Amino acid sequence: MQKILLVEDEKDIGEMVGFALEKAGFSFRLVADAEQALLEIAADLPDLVLLDWMLPGMSGIDLARRLRKEELTSALPIILLTARGEENDRVRGLESGADDYVTKPFSPRELIARIQAVLRRSTAQGGEDALEFDGLSLDPVSHRVSMSGEPVDLAPTEFRLLYFFMSHPERVYSREQLLDHVWGRGVFVEERTVDVHIRRLRKALGKQDYDRYIQTVRSAGYRFSARH
Ligand code: CA
Repeated sequence: MQKILLVEDEKDIGEMVGFALEKAGFSFRLVADAEQALLEIAADLPDLVLLDWMLPGMSGIDLARRLRKEELTSALPIILLTARGEENDRVRGLESGADDYVTKPFSPRELIARIQAVLRRSTAQGGEDALEFDGLSLDPVSHRVSMSGEPVDLAPTEFRLLYFFMSHPERVYSREQLLDHVWGRGVFVEERTVDVHIRRLRKALGKQDYDRYIQTVRSAGYRFSARH
């Protein structure tokens, strides 16, 4: 049974989500703030965290950032829940390291669909062979990425994006195609989300100048290429 941890200080939402998740066959735990969330996660690592943005004390965004930085939780799938629906908020939310973003009010059905999509993506497996380009290597089995032997920590979406690029080099993909291949068909995500994750991926690869492999092709999309 997959374990979902909800971090939410609003009781009504906590109850509604808990009921829906248990009905959908998940095990469910609820905590009301970031400090309790950290204790829960340390005691028993969940399969996915639903994280309310507006929490008393440390915000959901800050907690997401912190989880991404720690080795144990760097690949833990995170969905942000928020009443804030502005495009800028969405981008900020995803930049914090969250894998998806759900705006309140949401229906239990929508939330479950998003949870299932994120879980599917985080456990999806493709070919087994490690890929390597000029010292940039990715092992799909161990989920390890390294640059000239130095390990790189990537969040799950960036990992899948890089994996897709490295398995399809020298081809241009539109944002829509990347969404289909990396996020999955039928998942409701805006195309701008792709840019956010590309930016995060470039930032991680930029530590050793590998960001130049992720090339923007004007009015077409993105391409992975070891050539200039
Ligand atoms: Ca709240």
